[in-house]
Amino acid sequence: MTHKRILLAMLAALGALWAGSACAAVDAVSITPWRGDARGAHTIAHDDYCSPGVAGIEKYALPILEARGLKAALGVIAKECKPADWARLKELIAKGHEPFNHTLTHSGELEAGTLKPVAGWDARREILDAHALMKTQTGYTYTFIGYPYDLATPETRKLVKEQPDYLGARAGKHIYDGSMAGLNYPDDDAYFVKWDVYWTDGKWSLYKPGAAGSILIQHTEAAINSGSWSFRTMHGVADGSWEAVPLAEYTAYADYLKQQVDAGKLWVATPTDIIRYRETRRYCPATLTDKEIRFDTSAPDCKRYATRVTLALTASVAPKVSQNGKTLAVKAAGDKRWLVDASPLDGVLKLD
Ligand SMILES: [Zn+2]
Repeated sequence: MTHKRILLAMLAALGALWAGSACAAVDAVSITPWRGDARGAHTIAHDDYCSPGVAGIEKYALPILEARGLKAALGVIAKECKPADWARLKELIAKGHEPFNHTLTHSGELEAGTLKPVAGWDARREILDAHALMKTQTGYTYTFIGYPYDLATPETRKLVKEQPDYLGARAGKHIYDGSMAGLNYPDDDAYFVKWDVYWTDGKWSLYKPGAAGSILIQHTEAAINSGSWSFRTMHGVADGSWEAVPLAEYTAYADYLKQQVDAGKLWVATPTDIIRYRETRRYCPATLTDKEIRFDTSAPDCKRYATRVTLALTASVAPKVSQNGKTLAVKAAGDKRWLVDASPLDGVLKLD
């Protein structure tokens, strides 16, 4: 080969490389509202764990959820837990279920109905002692709270917000103004997570009963249809607990959840997982430069909440993405969209 030919061959090779990389150019990046590009998010919560009336959580709910790969949130009444309950909680934590603080004795701060102060309520004892007891017994640190009866004064809510371990709270107030129930949008307050409580006849639920599982399913569907997060509060299942969910209703609900998860429409997760995701999206924005995606991790709330998020990339062909020298999985989402999961604190994403 002459020098000229070698030069031409090299140029041709370079040209091919250039064309290849130009095809894979990423035009845009964004963090999807919910993990996996799901349309909505949902939390399954059972209150009053460890109290004697909720045997159906262990007997029915958890086996039904586990058979479908779903995780639950469990509101624990810490003083009611026996040694066997603590051992069981350790197992459930290891499986990815999330216990949350439902106070020490569940005496409550205000009487349900009358809203009169409950004699002897001590916020530090009920909340902080319960927190310490969970830590001592299982090694687990609570990051979420659901107040008994979802009633709490502004002072108590302030106390929770001041605790460095707490990343969020279920909406509680000292009045009934309807603002505690509903759906949660991507920019809503982590310390005021709205909910719907299961009520057999639908009396205080946002929804009315119909076909099996109807109240539960409607609340989930609402999240999918509006791009929000719905938090389902229940007590036991087919047991003697307050407004226990009948077994057929619960099974229909769990089947529906699995169906929606499998279809990629719904992300079912525990409150802390969802809060971390939502705050990461808000406080660790991702920006695209020529060959890189960078997260801005300068905000203190970015470091506090940071978790793995799903990035949606727009490109005509599948981009190659790596972080810290590790190739990341890229999933086709159709319409020139590509999904990549990454953690902001793991550094810059390289594109080629
Ligand atoms: Zn309760």
